[in-house]
Amino acid sequence: MIYDLHSHSDRSDGILSPQALMSRARAQGVSVLALTDHDTVAGLAVARQAAAVEGVTLIDGIEFSSQWGKGGVHIVGLGIDPACAVLQEAIARQQRARDERAQAIAGRLAKMGVNEPLAGARNLAGGPAVGRPHFARLLVEQGFVRDVSAAFKRYLGSGKSADVAYRWPPLEEVVAWIHAAGGLAVLAHPAKYKLTRTRLRGLVAAFAEAGGDALEVISGQQAPGLASELASLAERYGLAASCGSDFHSPDQPWQELGHFGTMPDHCRPVWQLPGFPAVPVQTTPVQTT
Ligand code: MN
Ligand code: MN
Ligand code: MN
Repeated sequence: MIYDLHSHSDRSDGILSPQALMSRARAQGVSVLALTDHDTVAGLAVARQAAAVEGVTLIDGIEFSSQWGKGGVHIVGLGIDPACAVLQEAIARQQRARDERAQAIAGRLAKMGVNEPLAGARNLAGGPAVGRPHFARLLVEQGFVRDVSAAFKRYLGSGKSADVAYRWPPLEEVVAWIHAAGGLAVLAHPAKYKLTRTRLRGLVAAFAEAGGDALEVISGQQAPGLASELASLAERYGLAASCGSDFHSPDQPWQELGHFGTMPDHCRPVWQLPGFPAVPVQTTPVQTT
């Protein structure tokens, strides 16, 4: 059985609709899929209907942005109740923070001569979740820079003229939101923060201290040896182990649904923790004649 416990739909920065995501999951042999869009649960209801049609077990999830020291980190919630009031309030708060940041960035860009930056970025985002990549594309469109990476280098990157620093809520707070909604908190893709070994150990220790439940030991196609290193870290701090593709788009084969290595033997999988939603033994619909 393949568990893929980290994926995105077009309700955040993914490309596929929740329906298309579910049918791709089935085609890739995934039995259990968590939809974990950034700071939103908007895709879960549609995903649930599609999951029933496809014979895939859906785990209701979310991926929250959080702050650790100077950097942002991501915490996945698995098995959350999307209707939970604490969770809803947290989502609204994250959304307001993104909006305020977008308005501040737009204000700076307008002063530099960019035409209608907020409307332009919203249009490119196709929804309310406007981020720096959308402003970067707008700067390319309006001819300020040649490409997105130049937009970051010259305007939007850390310390540049249109960079607006934002501090996300701390680990304890995000873990508490997830627990209030009945979910399990997983520290996502620990290797993506580009921390030294000592700092990574510090982050995992802080996450465990904050009440976190599991560490994402596998995130898509990753360097050989990394899984067992992360598994040892998880074990050392009393955390279970999770795995997922972090799928966003069919164009990124290194993050394909269900395509990743197996969990090291000594791991305690997150789906064996009390609190993880029950998964039916047989998920493929039985054909009757
Ligand atoms: Mn993303
Ligand atoms: Mn992430
Ligand atoms: Mn993700």
